[in-house]
Amino acid sequence: MKKLKTKDNINDIWSAVTAQLRDEMSGVAFDTWIMPIVPIGITGTEIRLKVPGGLQKGSLGKSMITTKYRSLIESSLRSVTGKDLSLDVCFDEAGGSNQSGDPITYEGMLNNKYTFENFIVGNNNNLAQAASLAVAENPAGKYNPLFIYGGSGLGKTHLLQAIGNYYLTHNPGKKVLYTTSEKFTYELVNAIREKTNQEFRNRHRTVDLLLLDDVQFLSTKELAQEEFYHTFNALYEAGKQIVLTSDRLPSETPHLADRLKTRFQMGLLADIQPPDYETRLAILKSKIENEYFTFDEEIMEYVANNITSNVRDLEGALKRILAYAGIERTNTISMELAQKALKEILSTLPQRNITTAVIIDEVEKYYRLPKGSLITKKRSSDIAYPRHIAMYISRVILDESYAKIGEDFRRDHSTVMNAVKKMKKLVTENPELQDSIKELVANIKRD
Ligand code: ADP
Ligand code: MG
Repeated sequence: MKKLKTKDNINDIWSAVTAQLRDEMSGVAFDTWIMPIVPIGITGTEIRLKVPGGLQKGSLGKSMITTKYRSLIESSLRSVTGKDLSLDVCFDEAGGSNQSGDPITYEGMLNNKYTFENFIVGNNNNLAQAASLAVAENPAGKYNPLFIYGGSGLGKTHLLQAIGNYYLTHNPGKKVLYTTSEKFTYELVNAIREKTNQEFRNRHRTVDLLLLDDVQFLSTKELAQEEFYHTFNALYEAGKQIVLTSDRLPSETPHLADRLKTRFQMGLLADIQPPDYETRLAILKSKIENEYFTFDEEIMEYVANNITSNVRDLEGALKRILAYAGIERTNTISMELAQKALKEILSTLPQRNITTAVIIDEVEKYYRLPKGSLITKKRSSDIAYPRHIAMYISRVILDESYAKIGEDFRRDHSTVMNAVKKMKKLVTENPELQDSIKELVANIKRD
């Protein structure tokens, strides 16, 4: 079991601890008390934590940590580092002026687990990632606003927060506000009720970087749209950067006021697509780097092949496997364990009904062959080779008899048998072919 050593980066240790605490505490308690903590120093016996001051928190946060959550945090530190570390909690009196140069979070809303370093870049997200980094390095430059859109669990919040974290680290003392359109609306309504509109306005209009998550939820709320329109203009005119995320394009967001659509489209629209096989595998590998378990490549491939929807589901699958390993008190993950852990999730995912017809279709698409070419009599190698691959895949994933496969490919049983035998040998010798087959199988299984 790999334990993090105290010489490992303090941020790694703290993120492993917070990951554990996140599972053990209620979401609200975690967000309120643990998320704002900034680890600032570590020795062999002690870890020093800073509770950002300001607003409601400050001394209350410190006492919550030194009393109510102390033993929970200490036991998590023990399991992460293998050492008994005591807590030294200080309260950041400066409340945001950040003299120490440590990353601080304005209002404690940024989570330091979201960084560019741990964001895996693939073909699916490279534009959004590059634009995010450009904005973090050089705010209010070319891309203002930056509008990141894509399906759920694909990394929008991660990138948004990475921008904030990066910017704060390089520009200590600047003001970053991360909020969601839900929170924006809710606080606006409160401000109106409590007659604190001016405060609300100041808080949103005096920041250097505004990160607004899930802007699609602003769309049904006229009052919030109106207020946000003015917030946007005030910041934009003051040369401040705005970054927005949504699950869809502005133009495809019903009930979003035209003037907001226009503004959201003024900068750069960057999409995030679901990750392909290679990216899924790379993400899985990066996620287990900080775990105490070792996984065989084969198990990573199994997960990457079967969980194709989004990164959140990939992480969920990994968590399940780790939880199963915990239950079975083992730190070697076997394929059997992985399959058992994922059985339930996989059965709830839409499963495609795989037939030889589906396989033929996908192989033809993959090799850019005209539809139906694999079942013609043609024997030229540009067709025979993919045909053999399709036969091999049919045999391996459908476990169909040679006779039945022969029928579907309009070949006799011994032709299929020979082809499968030949492919088996080739596959073991040729890593490139292995990759193609993995990708094909993923395509075949994808709905
Ligand atoms: P969204 O906001 O688009 O619904 P999130 O940003 O919350 O998605 O991402 C879901 C989870 O997947 C988060 O834990 C995030 O860290 C992780 N994640 C998403 N994309 C990547 C990536 N490219 N590399 C590493 N982790 C990722
Ligand atoms: Mg999100």
